[in-house]
Amino acid sequence: MKNQIYLDNNSTTQIDPDVFNYMLPYIREKYGNASSSTHIFGREAKEAVEYARAQISKLINCDKDEIIFTSGTTESINLALKGTIENSGNQRIHIITSVIEHSAGLEVCKYLEKYGIEISYIPVDKYGIINPDDIKAKIKKETVMVSIITANNEIGTTQPIAEIGNICREENILFHTDAAQAFGKIPINLKYLNVDMISFSAHKIYGPKGIGALYIRKGKKKPAVQIHGGGQENSMRGGTHNVPTIAGFGKAAEIARNKIMNEFTVHTIRRDRIIQNILNKVNGSFLNGHPVKRLPNNINVGFRNITNSVFINKYKEFAISTGSACSSETLQPSYVLKAIGRTKEEINSSVRIGIGRFNTEDEINYLIKRITEDYK
Ligand SMILES: *Cc1c(COP(=O)(O)O)cnc(C)c1O
Repeated sequence: MKNQIYLDNNSTTQIDPDVFNYMLPYIREKYGNASSSTHIFGREAKEAVEYARAQISKLINCDKDEIIFTSGTTESINLALKGTIENSGNQRIHIITSVIEHSAGLEVCKYLEKYGIEISYIPVDKYGIINPDDIKAKIKKETVMVSIITANNEIGTTQPIAEIGNICREENILFHTDAAQAFGKIPINLKYLNVDMISFSAHKIYGPKGIGALYIRKGKKKPAVQIHGGGQENSMRGGTHNVPTIAGFGKAAEIARNKIMNEFTVHTIRRDRIIQNILNKVNGSFLNGHPVKRLPNNINVGFRNITNSVFINKYKEFAISTGSACSSETLQPSYVLKAIGRTKEEINSSVRIGIGRFNTEDEINYLIKRITEDYK
């Protein structure tokens, strides 16, 4: 089935050909170590790393030296959360997070709980939205950090990050957000947003896999180093720079910056067309997540008369998923759909469709036609 239409862009994306071409010289001939300052190979590698850092910082309007390269969002979250806890001394420590974080965030919190860290998991409403007042109510003097996902990877719901940031700023508590889904798709302007740390990956925005970053606001206490080594990344993350993927990440960010407004509009229109056609034409269909406060490229719908495995088998020509890539591997029912109040049957009939840059209008039309054609 190689002619499948790729519609799983919340899981990962196709590499942009311009990103791929940009990376090639750094694999082939510009193979220097960015920490080697005695020759031209090292210097051109260093230049590529710093250029990428600048491109990424422009996309979210921060300073270049507020960006630390990591292997991706998962590592960034580990650094932000574990590193902050490690720096917090021995007193009883409390973190506030949500029940619908990506498994990367939830698993780090579970790990910290084993060491006596107290975690408050904020619930969500039926759309998957957190009430900032619930966070405010949980803050106490032991609270060191709030960590909330910007946009959920399964149901696409976006959170009131600005309000939560304002609360954290007032209370002088560090605020971290997992923006793997929002970065490059929803404008983020750090001059106006009270966020202290952000985790994100290149492969969700048509860049290479295995590279990402942690943004740390200047003047804020940096998390304790989690990967010790040769002093790279301002001694925040050891290990030889992965120059080709860093360069590709920078290029992907530059392209995202040029396209973000247009793609936001085009994808939102396509998303809403797909949702409206399904809800209007398919008996027993329902939408998971918020109709408007959601990622421009995420659709999560259920079909009361058909399970998701039968659905995916029936519409084999589309590469879609039953939820997050992580949960489809473990075959656990989605904790995100559970958190918004879906029944077991509803969870088992829900599918996620993630549209992307390389989908054509014809592909979207074909998807709508196929899913709705039995219901005339
Ligand atoms: C994809 C994703 C992650 C994990 O990113 P990696 O690149 O696999 O580390 C974390 N959080 C969210 C919201 C994601 O979508």
